[in-house]
Amino acid sequence: MKEFTYVKAPDMAAALTALRRPGAQLVAGGTELLNWLKDGIEAPDHLVDITGLPLTAVDVGPHGRLRVGALARMSDLAAHPEVARERPVLAQSLLLAASPQLRNMATIGGNLQQRTRCPYFRADTPLPCNKRTPGAGCAALQADDTAQHAIFGWTQECAATHPSDLAVALAALDATILISGPGGERRVPADAFHLTPEEAEPRRHTVLAPDELITGVEVPARPSARLSHYLKVRQRASYEFAVVSAAVALELTAGDTIGSVRIALGGVAHRPWRLTAAEEALRGTELADTDALRAAVAISFADARPLPGNGYKVELAQRAAVRALRAAARPEAPDVHRAGANGGPR
Ligand SMILES: Cc1cc2nc3c(=O)[nH]c(=O)nc-3n(C[C@H](O)[C@H](O)[C@H](O)COP(=O)(O)OP(=O)(O)OC[C@H]3O[C@@H](n4cnc5c(N)ncnc54)[C@H](O)[C@@H]3O)c2cc1C
Ligand code: SF4
Repeated sequence: MKEFTYVKAPDMAAALTALRRPGAQLVAGGTELLNWLKDGIEAPDHLVDITGLPLTAVDVGPHGRLRVGALARMSDLAAHPEVARERPVLAQSLLLAASPQLRNMATIGGNLQQRTRCPYFRADTPLPCNKRTPGAGCAALQADDTAQHAIFGWTQECAATHPSDLAVALAALDATILISGPGGERRVPADAFHLTPEEAEPRRHTVLAPDELITGVEVPARPSARLSHYLKVRQRASYEFAVVSAAVALELTAGDTIGSVRIALGGVAHRPWRLTAAEEALRGTELADTDALRAAVAISFADARPLPGNGYKVELAQRAAVRALRAAARPEAPDVHRAGANGGPR
């Protein structure tokens, strides 16, 4: 492992100054970054530890707006009583992620900045991967080994998906990512924070510049947040990333008719993938009308581009979206209780 310097930033100004040094990299909980150092995915010259910054709070404002500091632990946000009650999709996405030990260390900012789980990107012996080495090629596409890869927003350069469960829930809740940098503060919608290879060269994962840091996340108060749900389909019931996932936030009008809805999918692209056409088509649809739900969701898959190995995701993702819609309308039976095997609430 390459040698690097280490500094613990005492305040935000010091953190931003330290980040301006060439080869500098932030570290928060360290649950991702330390693996990258060991596997040669990253080789920073300087590590800037930001765990001393006052960014751990989870606050609910007077009008119900939720503000989460970037250094809040995943477990703290999931356990916050207001979050579990008013924004179940958020608590569920956190409790269905990683393990209790990881969630006790891992931060919200680090979760959003985690990298793809594409096995070629993660390989400890270098393989052709445009995300790691621009211009090297894409071993996954060359080998047609694409079962876990994207069906939307991919290119011949890269077809990786983004693994954050939290990001998908935040996109459904219309959240905003708060960023600080040398130019001051800026705000980015959660569904525009990650970049697909169609939007930027594969090496770039998010809109964050190297000298910027995430300070927090803001989630607006919306009636739809209460009727929300995160459904995660994975190959085993514990400690596993999503094959596909669906986050839904729903408002009902008279009876069980959909008034408005936001749907974001995980595991299908290198960012939470909004089903905007389906959201429009679902207005006025009865939740009990399965055929109408399926037909509306299918509209957003007209432009899906499955790879040879992952055609199954087209059907699976649509089913997940329809199931999540139904589950969102029944908050009394959240999937979060089924997270016991994953180290969920006991
Ligand atoms: C075995 C395993 C299983 C996992 N399973 C899941 C899962 O099912 N679902 C899921 O969503 N996640 C999963 N994760 C990912 C886990 O959630 C992340 O490792 C964790 O959230 C990263 O947070 P951290 O604070 O440890 O980040 P670090 O390791 O400290 O940093 C990770 C990256 O984020 C950057 N960073 C950290 N904080 C900031 C900030 N405030 N601003 C800008 N950049 C920042 C760092 O520079 C680094 O690039 C898993 C991880 C492991 C190791
Ligand atoms: S899909 Fe992307 S991350 Fe995976 S090998 Fe290809 S370039 Fe690398």
